[in-house]
Amino acid sequence: MNWKQEVESRKEQMIADLKDFLAIESTLDLSTAEVNKPFGKKVDDALQYMLDLGGKDGFHTKNVDGYAGHIEYGTGDELIGVLAHVDVVPAGDGWTSPPFSPEVRTGKLYARGAIDDKGPGMAAYYALKIVKESGLPLSKRVRLILGTDEETNWRCMKHYFSKEDMPSMGFTPDADFPIITAEKGLLDILLTGAIIPTNISDSTWVLEQFEGGQRVNMVPDVAICKLTGEGDVFDLKEKVQDILLQNRIQGYAEEADDHVKICVHGRAYHGSEPEKGLNAVLELAKILATIDLDSAGSAYVEMINRFLTDSFFGEKMGLSQADDVVGKLTVNAGVFQYAKNEESKLQLNIRYPLSGDKNAILSKVDECFQSYGLKIVDVDHKAAHYCEPDHPLVKTLSSVYEEQTGKKAELLAIGGGTYARALNVGVAFGPLFPGKEETAHQKDEFIELDDLFQATALYAQAIYELAK
Ligand SMILES: [Zn+2]
Repeated sequence: MNWKQEVESRKEQMIADLKDFLAIESTLDLSTAEVNKPFGKKVDDALQYMLDLGGKDGFHTKNVDGYAGHIEYGTGDELIGVLAHVDVVPAGDGWTSPPFSPEVRTGKLYARGAIDDKGPGMAAYYALKIVKESGLPLSKRVRLILGTDEETNWRCMKHYFSKEDMPSMGFTPDADFPIITAEKGLLDILLTGAIIPTNISDSTWVLEQFEGGQRVNMVPDVAICKLTGEGDVFDLKEKVQDILLQNRIQGYAEEADDHVKICVHGRAYHGSEPEKGLNAVLELAKILATIDLDSAGSAYVEMINRFLTDSFFGEKMGLSQADDVVGKLTVNAGVFQYAKNEESKLQLNIRYPLSGDKNAILSKVDECFQSYGLKIVDVDHKAAHYCEPDHPLVKTLSSVYEEQTGKKAELLAIGGGTYARALNVGVAFGPLFPGKEETAHQKDEFIELDDLFQATALYAQAIYELAK
């Protein structure tokens, strides 16, 4: 089979179908949710679009209560899964062309969802179509499974697999080529509580408010606090400016009506590599440690500095651990909210190695923050995910990749989480080729057409080799 030739002869139709699919603004919208459309009308339209396409091409399709659906081909007991999603993150501002009016410019197709994950989903669909139209015999069934809530809570896959069979193995075209075989365990932890004050009786400044960070899986890029008190405002401002300058950090202290505001700018980064960003909140906590604060404020700042500041690998909480496959445990201190005499809130994103013990990590975290008055109130957990390098799935995808691209199929280990975790035995396989610009979730998201076609050819051969 000449897989690239098969893609070549279908590419006009494929781009036309993909443009229609991308034009559907399938962001989560609970205001239009109803029975069998749990994530809103547009998300459902996108799911239905793909299922209709499958039906029109003669595939067996199924909509599982609007949470997910599948397009199936082949016969046999064993099931191979290909997992993509039809939902997209909101467009945001600053686009060169409207995000839901797909446009091709210099070999790139621009639209929200172009690379995450509608382009790859369409590539996987055309791959299945090519396999079907080639007439090559399969001994297994293949399902293109389409989720609808990947960008938010994965409720789609929880529901789908509560009703449908788990494939014996599969891949997801929702990350990077060549093949991601190992992903750290993920813990999103929410702690809340009233801070227990220290014994300090007199203080110059009162910490009225302190906050930073919007998402638990991002390094906070801004932190602010408000101080009131009888101290010398000029001295305070000068002290803050000195520390900022010494550490080459952006920020300022300014006097407002009845308080002094301090603002620190850091550098946002993905929470899987917190050491590569500059956590504005932790930098602000370092500054506040040099200021004479009230009893609750100083306890709060002490807590941050004792367990989180300059401790991106969990050292200060006693969580240091690593393995040879995915590396070290990491801690991203992502969201902080504190206001005097109110409940304070802290969110941590911890990523642990394959050998990590979730319960041991949680009890350590609890132990650390409990003495300051914070308790764990919510945990979102995704277990570490690993597929052995000599598993037939990995062997097959590696040989397909090497045969078509002429490059070595390096196996990747990452701190982030891919859709492959929804499968018992699964890996991420594309669509972003090594060295290519990552535009998922950003303005002017695009997929290079040549890469889209190459991915389609890879998926077609992979599906055939896995299911033959
Ligand atoms: Zn995605």
